[in-house]
Amino acid sequence: MTLRTNIIIALGLVSLGVAGCEQPQKQTPKPVVAEHATTLEDLALRLGLQITERDEAFVVLKNAANTVILFTQTGGRFFVNGKPMGSVGEVKRQRDTVYVSDSLIPQIRQYLRSTTPQQPPVARPGPLKTKALVVIDAGHGGHDPGTISTNGLREKGINLEVATRVAGLLQQRGVSVVMTRQDDRFIELEERSDIANRRNADLFVSIHSDSNPNRSLQGFTVYVARTASPEAHRVAGEINQAMAATGAESHGIREADYKVLVNTNGPAVLVELGYLSNTQDCARLRDGTYQNRLAQAIANGILAGLR
Ligand SMILES: [Zn+2]
Repeated sequence: MTLRTNIIIALGLVSLGVAGCEQPQKQTPKPVVAEHATTLEDLALRLGLQITERDEAFVVLKNAANTVILFTQTGGRFFVNGKPMGSVGEVKRQRDTVYVSDSLIPQIRQYLRSTTPQQPPVARPGPLKTKALVVIDAGHGGHDPGTISTNGLREKGINLEVATRVAGLLQQRGVSVVMTRQDDRFIELEERSDIANRRNADLFVSIHSDSNPNRSLQGFTVYVARTASPEAHRVAGEINQAMAATGAESHGIREADYKVLVNTNGPAVLVELGYLSNTQDCARLRDGTYQNRLAQAIANGILAGLR
């Protein structure tokens, strides 16, 4: 939530103001694989791809619009949609787990074709838990950064990181997912709801990060519209419960008439992941492991709520 969102806050909650982490980012030594390593599974998740094939020498990652092949030895090349695009850099192995540098993620991402919103969702392999279609909305994007912490962490980036992970986890469970954006682009609020409405989505989940002049405030909040359906309340309850189980502080389920919640015809929920205005939340939200944990909780909550 930011100064510039054109929303109506039903509860008269005052949470405007751009604040952020008070501590500047720690000086970190130059990147080394050990410190900035990511597993291939995590890399796939963060890129919104699925591992479809792997052996000792290579791994294939796919989504509806892209095929990425990584040759998994140090200095091996990576291919995006048939073209060699660069080196995978250093590769380390520990038993069956393969680690690469997480700097590879933006290197690959820049070449990926967008799969939404133009393309219809595709059925994913794996056990089909539900036939549901879920729209995942990463808040803000493009010229709208959302809230910005004092050390420059932008909400739009955090939202996208977590939203991409949630989408990947749902797809792994057989849920059809459409993301309103998969990269750093601006999308009008109306269009975000329209993406769900056009497809008659079973659920719309918008992902944001919070800010408050009271910098001691931390934790997450789950919102539904004041006129929300019982289904929306049920999903919100499940997400709240799953997120609280991660140990994050819950502000509970609140009602607020955010535009995306009101304009979406089906059940709609908005999650504020935490406060970028709080030092501790801010540090956690930029951490990939914490992002994974929150994403897993949101995905679990969605899956429980869809039943
Ligand atoms: Zn926001």
